[in-house]
Amino acid sequence: MSGLIDQFGRTATDLRMSLIDKCNLRCRYCMPAEGLDWLKKDDMLTADEVIRLADIAISRLGIESIRFTGGEPMVRADLVDILAGVHAAHPQVELSMTTNGINLERKIDALVEAGLARINVSLDTVCPETFAKITRRDRLTKVLSGLHAAKAAGLEPIKINAVLLRGINDQQAAELLTWSLEHDYQLRFIEQMPLDADHNWTRDNMVTAAEIRDQIAQVYTLTEHETPRGSAPAELFDVQDKETQETLGQVGIIASVTEPFCAACSRTRITADAKVRSCLFSHTETDLMGLLRDGSSDEDIANAWREAMWHKPKAHGQTQVGLGMPGFVQPERTMSAIGG
Ligand code: SAM
Ligand code: SF4
Repeated sequence: MSGLIDQFGRTATDLRMSLIDKCNLRCRYCMPAEGLDWLKKDDMLTADEVIRLADIAISRLGIESIRFTGGEPMVRADLVDILAGVHAAHPQVELSMTTNGINLERKIDALVEAGLARINVSLDTVCPETFAKITRRDRLTKVLSGLHAAKAAGLEPIKINAVLLRGINDQQAAELLTWSLEHDYQLRFIEQMPLDADHNWTRDNMVTAAEIRDQIAQVYTLTEHETPRGSAPAELFDVQDKETQETLGQVGIIASVTEPFCAACSRTRITADAKVRSCLFSHTETDLMGLLRDGSSDEDIANAWREAMWHKPKAHGQTQVGLGMPGFVQPERTMSAIGG
């Protein structure tokens, strides 16, 4: 019984499952202001189907950790049932979630009780006006209270995902880091990728990892963290006080565009409508919904998944063409519809 190996020798052990394409924010780098044509309920995985796919992934395909994402996973009313179902069958597998944090305060205790072990909350700024500009919603206080509640619930570490946008929050890297260190959240900057609905991304205009490091280095000393990176997308740095050299915490930088880590990628993705995507930037998908609903066996589904992953491209969805370079074609789905 083999796992999810590809023809370039990588093995996927980390599953990202999108539970829904809808979201209650409209981040500029992800969604258009008016939203998208949402999936119909019947076309989305039910809670039982999510639990079955997770079981197949763990029992037959060697998946070791699952991250639930979206769209906004907390928009799904049955999120607690999904977590509880997967956790009951496989308590050894770490379940995590990437969320925008809205309504987290209200839901966190039930989520943790159901088996949620780790959380990433997306927060690009602590300035209310900038938050409203990026997300097109005035809801910063809801995110902050969600983060606070996650800490009170004992989740550790709590990671923050931040994207910097030229002309909006591109000067706020050090400020956001200072705030994260003070509140004991582990900040990770993610380079903006061409996965926005508006197709506004350009390689020339994005904020690069090098630029983020330079900005932070004006305020703190950054040194490479000693733990080997492995297949983790974030390059981790220790953050030190410039005068005392005291280590204040860490910061991660995910340089998906300028310093891609495709060779070490260990991820497989399932969209909310049950398509396997072997890469964020894939132009092909493999449907599992038909098999889930036509009486196919778990092994049939596992085989289709294996086959999809065998064809995982070497790099960035289209064999070696760098993001935004001549020949690069942005995938049709936005980040929200893939599951980041
Ligand atoms: N709604 C949840 C959230 O925002 O955390 C989960 C889904 S969101 C698509 C997952 C992550 O993708 C977020 O951290 C978000 O910042 C990131 N993301 C979305 N669009 C992106 C883009 N174009 N480039 C880089 N990261 C992006
Ligand atoms: Fe929604 Fe997350 Fe996309 Fe923002 S990044 S619009 S919160 S799915």
